[in-house]
Amino acid sequence: MTIEFKISWLDDDIAMYRDTVIRFVESEMLPQDAIARARGHVGHALWRRAGEVGLLCSDIPEAYGGGGGDFRHEAVFYDAMARRGLTGMSPSVHSIVAHYLLNHGTEVQKQRYLPQMARGELVGAIAMTEPGTGSDLQAVRTRAERRGDGYVINGAKTFITNGYLAGLVLVVAKTDPTQRARGTSILIVETAHDEGFRVGRVLDKIGLKAQDTSELFFDDVTVPADRLLGGVEGHGFFQLMSDLPYERTIIGVMAAAAIEGAYAATVAYVREREAFGQAIAEFQNTKFKLAEIASVATVARTFVDRCVTDLVAGSLDATTAAMIKLWASEQQGKVMDECLQLHGGYGYMNEYLIARMYADARIQRIYGGTNEIMKEVISRAL
Ligand SMILES: Cc1cc2nc3c(=O)[nH]c(=O)nc-3n(C[C@H](O)[C@H](O)[C@H](O)COP(=O)(O)OP(=O)(O)OC[C@H]3O[C@@H](n4cnc5c(N)ncnc54)[C@H](O)[C@@H]3O)c2cc1C
Repeated sequence: MTIEFKISWLDDDIAMYRDTVIRFVESEMLPQDAIARARGHVGHALWRRAGEVGLLCSDIPEAYGGGGGDFRHEAVFYDAMARRGLTGMSPSVHSIVAHYLLNHGTEVQKQRYLPQMARGELVGAIAMTEPGTGSDLQAVRTRAERRGDGYVINGAKTFITNGYLAGLVLVVAKTDPTQRARGTSILIVETAHDEGFRVGRVLDKIGLKAQDTSELFFDDVTVPADRLLGGVEGHGFFQLMSDLPYERTIIGVMAAAAIEGAYAATVAYVREREAFGQAIAEFQNTKFKLAEIASVATVARTFVDRCVTDLVAGSLDATTAAMIKLWASEQQGKVMDECLQLHGGYGYMNEYLIARMYADARIQRIYGGTNEIMKEVISRAL
């Protein structure tokens, strides 16, 4: 008997869509991953191919060029990538950006950007973090100053996912620097056209080697007033807060899938590899470790599936979303460590999936709000 981690929300339609996703991941993403890791980004062509196949913005309404599905369609893409350790392209951040536009943008903003994002012609990024502030988002210093019929943006952002390839950046900035939350707004920057915008370094990280996480600079970037997300100043912080359950569930989905992917790779490895005249799989320690990992994977799957189902139903609360982000990312870190250990020295080699998964897992406890911030959020509900 083999242990299966069945996804509870797969109906026939989603399962069929998932087959298309897996085919794309296996035949078009996986073969390019080594090149993307060496280069530091996946390139625009892959984004456009994902758009052509219909994998981007799959839960955005068809009226705006999206797939007209729900979060389950998004989740199967993140799941398929995470199982295979593919962390270069971030369709999740792209989708988060699309949702800011969908949920908070004006009709003109939605019509203008969402179809291009669904086609993969415009890659999305969200620029909150600055060299001087991350967790304390209300303390951002990037300034968007109203001048005439536009805004002039000045500031610096760092650690921005999809930053090098992005065509559209949502910039979190102060329209009123005397206020914290109420002085915060989100401005849309079109990187191809807006003068004064500049990408700095594509950052050298311990993992996510194929991900173009970058520094961004804004020097007197002048944008028309209709680039203010939603058209009203001071709403930025509240816009960011309202979409958090969506973002944190994504991290849970990726963690559960990575755990299952690492488990599968490790089971295959320990059956093959021998020591002291028997397969590594035969040692009691190996069996016990794998039994523990399979149990964690089962619990993770159950909790993540509940969050996905609640999110689709519109009933996922911010506290539970913080819990899934916190718990699943912590488990992911522990499981990657155990699985690497079972690979011995080969587990430390980047050519092995488990080595890359180990390094990639570390960030899951930091981005999307650090796990300490998740505990803050949860403790507010105690
Ligand atoms: C690979 C990668 C991708 C990223 N992608 C993006 C992106 O696309 N867009 C974006 O805007 N940002 C992005 N980030 C930034 C990320 O969200 C921040 O790094 C994160 O929010 C933490 O902020 P910080 O690095 O400034 O750490 P700090 O806020 O300086 O925190 C340092 C430490 O202090 C702890 N701490 C802070 N406040 C508290 C508190 N109140 N209680 C207890 N402990 C606390 C933190 O948990 C952490 O352990 C990315 C980061 C990385 C590394």
